[in-house]
Amino acid sequence: MAGGNRSLETPALVVSSRRFKEADQILTLYTRDRGRVSAIAKGIRRTKSRLGGRLEPFSLVEISLHLGRSSLYSITGAQTIRTFQAVRDRLYRMDEGARLLEDVRRYFPEEEENAAAFNLLVRAVGYLSLAESREAAAGVVLAARSKLLVAHGYLPELDSCQKCGEDEFLCAFDPSLGGVVCRDCYGEGVQDCFRLSDQGLTALREVLVRPLSEAAEVRVSKAVSGEVERAVSRIFDHHGH
Ligand SMILES: [Zn+2]
Repeated sequence: MAGGNRSLETPALVVSSRRFKEADQILTLYTRDRGRVSAIAKGIRRTKSRLGGRLEPFSLVEISLHLGRSSLYSITGAQTIRTFQAVRDRLYRMDEGARLLEDVRRYFPEEEENAAAFNLLVRAVGYLSLAESREAAAGVVLAARSKLLVAHGYLPELDSCQKCGEDEFLCAFDPSLGGVVCRDCYGEGVQDCFRLSDQGLTALREVLVRPLSEAAEVRVSKAVSGEVERAVSRIFDHHGH
């Protein structure tokens, strides 16, 4: 921290929380100014706590943090910006949204500012809170996850074979090459390469270019969304920490 300033105020999305000792919680936050951080909320489980109820997953808060001797921040205050309570009110929104938060927890680098990823995440939770069906919620989450890949600099290459440059007969996805391969190159000693149908490739292209605001409207078959899901997850895995 610059200039010995060990305090920080920043908007943050609550990603997860778990009990710690008798009255505390340890939270994972995705902050606008410092990326993913872990922070302890002391005494939050006591009934008189000022923080109680404000720090549930999917909540957007203005958080006050202090860095003590350990690498763990302490939460010294939190003001609610948006509760996004509607996400927690429907199980299907929670279920689908959990994948998004899991990505943040597992793959987003710690203490690395990424305002684009932060804004995308907040918008995605906003659309998720409005999703009227499980399919709509799944569409929002899949689109958001694919756009978060791009926000982290992992834009998949979908227009030509990543081995030979061929732009026809593209039929598989190779996470280690970061893009598609053609039928001649598919399976040549690559480990985690997997088949991508024409519909899957089209859906993956579309999900990357279409605005997030339209994601809830998109309907593709389970098989096709499964392929897109797999591609997105494998790219995250490949870059995982
Ligand atoms: Zn090829």
